[in-house]
Amino acid sequence: MKLKAFAKINLGLDVVGKREDGYHEVRMIMQTVGIFDRLELKESSEPGIHVSTNLSFLPNDENNLVYKAAKLLMQEKGIEEGLSIRLDKHIPVAAGMAGGSSDAAAVLVGVNKLFHMGFSTGELMERGVKIGADVPYCVMRGTALSEGIGEILTPLAPMPDCHILVAKPPVNVSTKFVYENLCLDTIEKHPDIDGMAQAVGRGNLLEIVERMGNVLESVTEKNYPVIRDLKTFMKDRGALGALMSGSGPTVFGIFQDLSSARKACDDLRKTEMARQIYLTAPVNRKTESEKGDV
Ligand code: ATP
Repeated sequence: MKLKAFAKINLGLDVVGKREDGYHEVRMIMQTVGIFDRLELKESSEPGIHVSTNLSFLPNDENNLVYKAAKLLMQEKGIEEGLSIRLDKHIPVAAGMAGGSSDAAAVLVGVNKLFHMGFSTGELMERGVKIGADVPYCVMRGTALSEGIGEILTPLAPMPDCHILVAKPPVNVSTKFVYENLCLDTIEKHPDIDGMAQAVGRGNLLEIVERMGNVLESVTEKNYPVIRDLKTFMKDRGALGALMSGSGPTVFGIFQDLSSARKACDDLRKTEMARQIYLTAPVNRKTESEKGDV
């Protein structure tokens, strides 16, 4: 069984509180984009779960989220057959694009089908949150409002057509470091998440972009000025807006005009600011059609 696991960007990311268990309460506008990992699931004569990937630095044992996802469902249903999982990664790793969560979500969907488990989408989403806060959203895909720790999801109308330039600078940002260094009391400007959800409902790209904001940028930009440089670079070349995704360091720019987006992409490739650069587009839940070049 072949599957695609799509990346996400955050058009808006606000942190509204911290729970006693240490999790942060967030309000985010999520959008699936056409950058994806490929997965292949096969029943295997060897018992157990066997993971192989194209990236030597990724774990291929129970620390890989695809292993965790398969184990979670197979244990619950008492399935003892062997399973092999081949993962070809294209989504930048540890980048704020939910790559691992999306792989896990694809495996939940795939294993459910392969072994005829009969879980509904909602049941897969409930189980997914045990693996990671973004996993339920990655099962759902498309444009959505995400609240709580990421498990309270409200589907929104599809994002209007546009071109999205995605660039991952060559710096490593730990999600833990970013949240630990976020001082909730001193956040100067919270993005207008409700206003953005309404703008999505109206299908108005300019109104969406005007409201883009990510409170985690205050932490990462201080430590990694390349994030601010990338945003400026994209805006100077015609992006309607540019923002860091998740806890970073990936930056994306929204373009209405394809030729400006292509030119910005070509110009960016000539710099040292980012090595992983993609020109892509929104993927929506309904058709799950992959638009754009990956
Ligand atoms: P998020 O946007 O949800 O914060 P992320 O893009 O920051 O996600 P991921 O790429 O999902 O981060 O993974 C971060 C870490 O998780 C990696 O350092 C890696 O070792 C581990 N990991 C486990 N399984 C996977 C997987 N299938 N793909 C990527 N990373 C994985």
